[in-house]
Amino acid sequence: MGNKDSRDFIKALEAGDRSLMQNVPRADVHNHASLGGDFHSWRSKVGLDLKESSHYFPDFTDFQNLVDTIFTYPYKNPTKEQQIDRFLSLFASTYDLAITDGVTYIEPGYDAVLLDLFDMDTESMIRKLSEQAALYKDRISIAPDIGMLRVMEMKDIERTIYPCIESGFFKALDIFADERMGPPEDFVPIYRAAKKEGMKLKAHAGELLDADFVRRSVEVLELDEVQHGISASGSKEVMRFLEERKIRLNICPSSNIQLCQVDSYKAHPIRILLDNGIKVTVNTDDAIIFGKKSSDEFFSLFESGNYSAEELDRVRLNGFPDSN
Ligand SMILES: [Zn+2]
Repeated sequence: MGNKDSRDFIKALEAGDRSLMQNVPRADVHNHASLGGDFHSWRSKVGLDLKESSHYFPDFTDFQNLVDTIFTYPYKNPTKEQQIDRFLSLFASTYDLAITDGVTYIEPGYDAVLLDLFDMDTESMIRKLSEQAALYKDRISIAPDIGMLRVMEMKDIERTIYPCIESGFFKALDIFADERMGPPEDFVPIYRAAKKEGMKLKAHAGELLDADFVRRSVEVLELDEVQHGISASGSKEVMRFLEERKIRLNICPSSNIQLCQVDSYKAHPIRILLDNGIKVTVNTDDAIIFGKKSSDEFFSLFESGNYSAEELDRVRLNGFPDSN
């Protein structure tokens, strides 16, 4: 089972055959729904004259400013309707790109603050998101995540996240944005509530902070998976901890390079993590900004010369829910 896909995947990498690669099922489990599309096709679809940005962000604030521009341009004070339209166009773009690229399983991360745009009417928000996802469901399996923005006030996080958890629509919980803000301890009651609902527990950690922060996040929040987690490669002890607990790291190589956390595909710590028995997946994070599809990520790693095609095939298979 799946052998033909593995053969095709290996053949595609070795021959540099991009169209064959796009016929091999792949998963994208670290993908922000509002930022996962193709910049050029999204821009022309919504008719904006927004300029393409630089692909490198030594300062994280520049990245965050660009995200804000994508969400609001050209409005100074967009209305709720304009914002909802903007987000729906971005979500559609994420599904479109994944399908075009041959991704067959996706965990798109939605943001709980979206609920404010729907005046806290959870039912109508879920209805909109479900109707949109239903347009794609014959072509891709979708398991939506709900995420919290670390920089928000805790009272606003609590106000929006609990109704999302209780809705049953979202299959996993996540915290994202600058991990230097909002310590994991603050989120414990929310993670416990999500666990009770049977949700998978994820969090962004180890993208900007060190290995100890990865371990602390996993322990405190009882995580199943870590988004990024790459700094764990700096500590044998933390890698052993992750390996023993079978914690999967959902890694986005182009994002790490463009946010200047890693120098190149060749220098990417996935090599070290694999050598230490850690289960990893390869994903896109924010394709609309980084300009890389799931297939590009696999080609870039293979072309670095650090991985065999068979090894990357195991990484590919790790992304599917039944991979344990
Ligand atoms: Zn992310």
